[in-house]
Amino acid sequence: MGIRLVLGDITEQRVDAVVNAANSSLLGGGGVDGAIHRRGGPEILAECRALRAGRYGNGLPTGRAVATTAGRLPARWVIHTVGPVHSAGHDRSALLASCYAESLRVADELGARSVAFPAISTGIYGWPMDDGARIALTTVRNTPTDVRDVRFVLFDTRAYAVFAEVLDGLPRQS
Ligand code: ADP
Repeated sequence: MGIRLVLGDITEQRVDAVVNAANSSLLGGGGVDGAIHRRGGPEILAECRALRAGRYGNGLPTGRAVATTAGRLPARWVIHTVGPVHSAGHDRSALLASCYAESLRVADELGARSVAFPAISTGIYGWPMDDGARIALTTVRNTPTDVRDVRFVLFDTRAYAVFAEVLDGLPRQS
């Protein structure tokens, strides 16, 4: 599997699946979530509402992932995952790692070969970018998957630089 870093907007990625940094309500929010629903149109929200009316009546738990259509986005699916809110007192990094691993598991179920991830939890949820990048990159590198192309889409040059530095420091793949 290849990992690439891209500076840009996740809603513009031509990939099989785009990962949304959603919240557990699945009913939209700010940041990546707001951008995906705005650009993807009402079909995505309609499927999210159906999930809330069915399997996820209490919302999607933190660390889990579920797919919907991508509506008008240039992708086939949106994989919604709920990152943990950063806490200074509690180590929630296993939940953040779970977002990446579960998203890849759902991507495999869909048959997706290319997946674009945002830097989950590093916006409104307050996760420090360097630690968020370390968890993102090590988890994706170490998760067995049929996905061939994983793209991290970073929204600004600072996030891009942090991801590039962490990726550089990872051990080479055998
Ligand atoms: P969370 O609630 O999980 O923290 P956010 O959407 O607030 O999610 O932010 C996650 C990361 O995504 C942040 O680093 C933010 O700068 C970035 N981001 C916001 N909008 C976009 C976008 N359109 N494309 C890619 N990344 C984005």
